[in-house]
Amino acid sequence: MASNNNIVVLGAGVVGLTTALLLLQRGYSVTIVAAHMPGDTDPYYTSPMAGANWWPVSLPNTREQDWDRITYLALDRLASEVPEAGIHYQDAIIYKRNKDQDTVMTQWQQTLLSDEPWFKGLVRGFRKLNKEEIRGDADSGTRFQSVCINAGVYLAWLVGECRKRGGVFKRRMVKHVEEAGEWHHTGGKVACVVNCTGLLASKLGGVMDAKVTPTRGQIVLVRNEIEAMYDISGTDDGDEECTYLMMRAAGGGTVIGGSYQKGNWDTNVDQSMNNRIMKRAIALAPELVKPGQGIEALDVIRTYAALRPLRIGGVRLEREKIGKTEVVHNYGAGGFGYQASYGMAEYSARLVDEVCGRKGPEEKAKL
Ligand SMILES: Cc1cc2nc3c(=O)[nH]c(=O)nc-3n(C[C@H](O)[C@H](O)[C@H](O)COP(=O)(O)OP(=O)(O)OC[C@H]3O[C@@H](n4cnc5c(N)ncnc54)[C@H](O)[C@@H]3O)c2cc1C
Repeated sequence: MASNNNIVVLGAGVVGLTTALLLLQRGYSVTIVAAHMPGDTDPYYTSPMAGANWWPVSLPNTREQDWDRITYLALDRLASEVPEAGIHYQDAIIYKRNKDQDTVMTQWQQTLLSDEPWFKGLVRGFRKLNKEEIRGDADSGTRFQSVCINAGVYLAWLVGECRKRGGVFKRRMVKHVEEAGEWHHTGGKVACVVNCTGLLASKLGGVMDAKVTPTRGQIVLVRNEIEAMYDISGTDDGDEECTYLMMRAAGGGTVIGGSYQKGNWDTNVDQSMNNRIMKRAIALAPELVKPGQGIEALDVIRTYAALRPLRIGGVRLEREKIGKTEVVHNYGAGGFGYQASYGMAEYSARLVDEVCGRKGPEEKAKL
């Protein structure tokens, strides 16, 4: 059992920052060590590239469902009470085409596409769409209130919340996970390193997780506005392409996606894919442009391809002793790092409590 409460969180993406925040709230002394920080743009730093919204893909009665539930409650509070966090409410409209039934995309999104998803009673206003609301080649759909996050504003807000509680940031590229334990700002011994390295967990010494793989997502960010967030079960442009739209809070622009390309490390933008993404977006959300206008009426801010840090078999959230260092792993969030962030952070903090011999809330309640 550790004899102090010094923690290093390795990674300053949404997973690392949220974990650091929850540990600080529990009274730990936390240093956040990372090669990339909010404000950077780097192909291996996923968080600033995300949409991001809360659209659960987790199956019922799993730990992932619990992470999504915990996170929804946290984001709902931020959207209603903390405007500076850069999160706002937006209705989600999810369309389903019968012809997409057995595709990879449909399997991945089966919870989101369901008429009776586990989160039906959690969100506000969940209902099936009526016939007049169905657009394009969709056959059915659902609607509910959700949230959309301006990633740039939100990550900066998380940094501020950590600093306010005494969290210290150090910019380092760490070669081996054990090395992170040397960087606590007090210079003292570290009780535990929390490994939130995302995609780069595949290259970090002592971890080298071969199950971590990118899932490429290509995005067009535009100034045009939409009335709700949209998603549809599939496209006619192949199994790796998808169509979704969301408008970021606080003037962050409208994100139009996209693609879901497993194992693809390419961060160059494919222009022909961009054209397909924009055409599909206008078909799904005609209010993007005036009647009769096409993709030339989209006011593009930038286009980019980013890499979701997927882990085959699921997120790694567990303890491991590496050499002399106690490590809690928390990485591999794929396309759901924002919408599961508070749940993943809460579960990691419980493992840190275990390492440090603290009693968790459940145990305390029993006493
Ligand atoms: C196009 C796109 C759209 C998305 N939309 C959504 C969405 O709508 N909703 C949602 O929930 N999710 C979405 N995601 C997924 C989400 O962005 C990711 O799951 C999330 O950002 C992963 O965060 P992370 O903190 O694990 O990793 P990252 O953000 O990549 O952070 C990793 C951190 O670890 C640090 N690091 C790694 N290795 C080292 C090392 N050796 N030494 C020092 N530091 C190191 C990095 O510098 C960085 O600070 C989307 C992703 C993409 C690409």
